[in-house]
Order: sequence, then C-alpha cells, then structure tokens
Amino acid sequence: MIDRLLSKIFKIQNVECPIGQKVHGFLTVHETPAYVHQVPFTLVYGVGEGPILLINGGEHGSEYNGPAGCLKLIDTIDPSKINGKVILVPMVNTLAFEYRWMHGNPADYRDLTGCYVDEVPKGGSGPPKHSYQLAVTFYKEIISKAEYRLNLHGGDIEEDLLTGTMYTRIGDEARDSLNLAMARDFGWEWIRESIRRTQANAPPRPQRYMPMTVGTEAGGMGRCQSDLADMVLKGCFNTLKHLKMMDGEPDKPKIAKVFNPYHIYCSRGGLFISHVKAGDLIKERDVLGEVRNLNGKIVEEIIAPTDGIIHMVTSPALWEGDVTYEIGKDIREIE
Ligand SMILES: [Zn+2]
Repeated sequence: MIDRLLSKIFKIQNVECPIGQKVHGFLTVHETPAYVHQVPFTLVYGVGEGPILLINGGEHGSEYNGPAGCLKLIDTIDPSKINGKVILVPMVNTLAFEYRWMHGNPADYRDLTGCYVDEVPKGGSGPPKHSYQLAVTFYKEIISKAEYRLNLHGGDIEEDLLTGTMYTRIGDEARDSLNLAMARDFGWEWIRESIRRTQANAPPRPQRYMPMTVGTEAGGMGRCQSDLADMVLKGCFNTLKHLKMMDGEPDKPKIAKVFNPYHIYCSRGGLFISHVKAGDLIKERDVLGEVRNLNGKIVEEIIAPTDGIIHMVTSPALWEGDVTYEIGKDIREIE
C-alpha cells in the first residue's frame, strides 16, 4: 500500500512531482451532470528520505483556520529542506466551502466524515452520492498512501470550540503512545483524547488501514483569523520536525493538558442561552445554560454532570434531543 521505493517521481492520479519539487494539481473525483468535480492539492517531494505525511483541511468546508494554515504552508514549504513526501489538500469538501454549508454539502446533505466506505453505495432516486464518491476517491488516492496525517478541523459555523489537537486511542498501547507523542509535539496546550470502544456482541470488523492521525480544532463560528492560521502553520512545521522530515525540534509549551470528551444533550427544544463559552473551566452541578421556549419561559437548565472544560458549545436553535455541550473531563497534565 505504501510505496517505500525511492522513485524519482511522486505521482497521484496524473499529477507528477519530481524529486526536490512542489507541484500543484487536481484530484479528479467524478463527473457531475455538468462538469468534472476536482479538488485542488499540492505535492511536495523532499530531497531527503522520509515518510509520507498528508495534511488536509476542510472535510467540513466551513471550518476555515485549518485550511488557512495549510495554504500558508503550501506557500512556504521548501522541498530542498524536506525529508520524505508531503501531500497537502487544503479544502477537501469544496462544495461545502463554496456554498458555506455546515457539516454537509448542498449536493447530498451528507457529512463527509461518515462516508468513508469501501464502495460507493448504489441507490435509487434521490440526492446524488457526491460525498461517498469524494470520500472513497480521497481515501483510495491519498489517505491510503500516507503514513501520517494531520486532519485540520475547527468549530463549524454554529460551533464555539476550544482550540486544541485530538487523537483516538485504538487499544494498541505502543501505537497509542506514539500517536499521543505526535499530538503533543504539534505543540498546543489542549489534547482531546477519544477512546475507541468496541460494542459488546458486535461482529469483529476488519480494520481498514489508516495513517497515524492527529486532528486539530482551531477556532470556529465561521471566522478565519491570522493568529489561529499561524498556530496551525507552526503546528504543521512542529509535526514535520517531530517526524524528522525537517531539521529542528518542535517548539511546544512545557505542559499539555489531556481530556476525555463527552456530550450533554437537551430534553427540550427552544432557544439555548449559554452562560459559558469554549475554554471555560466548570464544576460539577454548575448551571451551564438554559433553554427557553418562544413564550419566554425557561423549560430546561443544562447542568454540568462533572468537573471539566467546555470543549464545544453548539447551536442556540435546539431541537429536542440535540447536543448542547461537549465537555472535556478527567483533565490530566503531561510533560
Ligand atoms: Zn470538522
């Protein structure tokens, strides 16, 4: 799956990057009724030997600071100072970006992150299968060829989100510690740690190959800011140094804080007024926010079940059963 032979050309589809060069091209995804859907990307083939790193933004097309940092990296990365190969895809979900859509896109309304399947499903009438076609092509042509991945996200248009990195523990201790070290060296203070759970009695699923991945959440609420984009840019360079793909040591704070995320849901619909914002530290039993119906009455208060930090505050327009907050609990400091 991973081509370790030192070839003189790094090629994805028909885009060819000679050693020591940086080349811009397009990933061809599929034909739409009116045109060929393509996604811009850049290849960097460094002069020294090293791994293949994928840096992508925009699985959700209205989360802007990751893509902004990626664009700055595309502009500044110098193949003569790189060991290995870098694939840069600043905006995977270009339809969502173009049409300013949250989570999904206007062609088929699906969230791309749920569309990484082995084959594009066949269906009858209804919306097209754009998200499946995009995810399957992006996986086959790009993700599956990388050994490491930075997956740049942020709060979407309706999300107030704590800026930090994230990774998932899969239950393989050796790999999980390497993954945490990669997240730590990205160089941000907060690390969201998910634990992959296997359901009891579920049939064992064959695990498909995934590169070792660190995600980022940078900013949110539909804004793009140079300070956050520059933090992303610095984190990408830190990762290149961590992987020995560049000279130098990652520049990071002395201590990072790791937390485990969980959601709080509402039981009533209405207008959600939050008393707290992303990054606020909270105590068990704090009243975090209230839901009012459109007669003005408080119909529900959202109470903190644990101590922690507010990782996400979501939309003020609540449907019964919606998520209100994501909380980070069990905060621990690591060197
Ligand atoms: Zn996202």
